[in-house]
Amino acid sequence: MKVIKIGGGCLKDGPTAKIILELAAARGKGNIFVVSAFYGITNLLISGIEGALASEETIKKNIQDLKTRHQTIVDCLVETPEEKNRTFHKLEKLLGKLEKYYFGIRFTREATPRMRDMIAVSGERISAMILAAAMTSRGIDSGVVLPEEAGIITDGKFMDATALMAPTRENLSLRLGRQVTENKILFVPGFYGISESGEITTFGRGGSDYSAAVVTAGVSADLLEIWKDTPGFMTADPDNIPRCRLIPELTYEEAAELAYTGAGILHPRTVEPVRQADIDIAVKNTYDPDARGSRITRQAMEADTVIKSVSYTRDVAILKIHASGVGARQGILSLITEAVSSSGINIKSVVTSQTCISLLVSKKDAQTAHACIREIYPRPFRESGCRTRVALVSIVGEGLHQSRGIAARCFTAVSNADVNIEMISFGASDAAMYFLVDEDSLDTTIQALHETFFN
Ligand code: ASP
Ligand code: MG
Repeated sequence: MKVIKIGGGCLKDGPTAKIILELAAARGKGNIFVVSAFYGITNLLISGIEGALASEETIKKNIQDLKTRHQTIVDCLVETPEEKNRTFHKLEKLLGKLEKYYFGIRFTREATPRMRDMIAVSGERISAMILAAAMTSRGIDSGVVLPEEAGIITDGKFMDATALMAPTRENLSLRLGRQVTENKILFVPGFYGISESGEITTFGRGGSDYSAAVVTAGVSADLLEIWKDTPGFMTADPDNIPRCRLIPELTYEEAAELAYTGAGILHPRTVEPVRQADIDIAVKNTYDPDARGSRITRQAMEADTVIKSVSYTRDVAILKIHASGVGARQGILSLITEAVSSSGINIKSVVTSQTCISLLVSKKDAQTAHACIREIYPRPFRESGCRTRVALVSIVGEGLHQSRGIAARCFTAVSNADVNIEMISFGASDAAMYFLVDEDSLDTTIQALHETFFN
């Protein structure tokens, strides 16, 4: 049995979803599908919260918009009039409930994290419901199992939950795994689970990949397939390097590193549950379903040059905190990281020397993080600064630390391209090396590196 994840990118509208549906009908029987919301729906649901805080009219407009979009999809996907009516009716009910949530926000003038999560999951509930109905209308035995019914248990952290695998595994094998039969297609809405006290908690934006991995491990499936509208993991971003190539095999570590540095193929936490259970992930292209795609597996083969991909993210800023004797002053690092984390800001990475601590954060958080640090009293540092016009480049390949000359080749290539390197992190992971460059030099850097390692 496989678990197959269908992303929102494959569910753009009726016609694209129809292609996926037919693929699922032809190849998916006997498997579990974990699905995202239809494209753009989660954004609409979330912006609707701000709208509800602003005015009553916005609520009506938003609900109408959600209704029209989904009705159009139902019209395109569901084949029989009876099933169509049943689906419209269910949609109406779901949207009715959603409208009440928005009004709750409007009247209380407060959008709690709990309410935000309750609203955000509507997209996945609706897409699973519609896809199952579409299957039924084609005479295929299908059904929906909600995460709360299956028993995906989380740590209860709203908007950023983590699954508790021990109870989840126990529940899923009983309540989900046993429902799978040879000719049936089961749909599970992705993106969330429930806390031990029964609260709906989402896994963070893009979290359906992680849901699918949790389900895969929970039912001990043979494989997790991620269906995408792209060929798989590439040696570089095709937007920068049109000649980039597909990576046929990656280790869990390599995939996790690439997910973090913005390859956009997988949610960064997806590998956690499947790696523990030692189950492979196959990234498949729905436009070319017979192609092999990328396979993530424990024993992935090494690339000739060790390096498998050059990736980057522009969404990074660097905060530099200058203090002398960093390594000899107990607690300075935790003082600084706590000041930043306590305002809800995620620290992407930390690099320190004896005279400077560098924190990497998202660009949007840079100014706030810097302000938090400057408020620490008494001030444990001499000087601080913030640079936002930077980009992070990473080269990824398991074993790059054991292979002689990789760093030299990398930095020679960058220096020959006349690019200055601002910060390096080498050694923290077995599969990646990072450095920062000026944002304007990013394209040149990526091209130089790709040329060096892949041509
Ligand atoms: N629909 C959710 C989001 O857009 C989860 C997902 O698609 O992975 O964040
Ligand atoms: Mg996604």
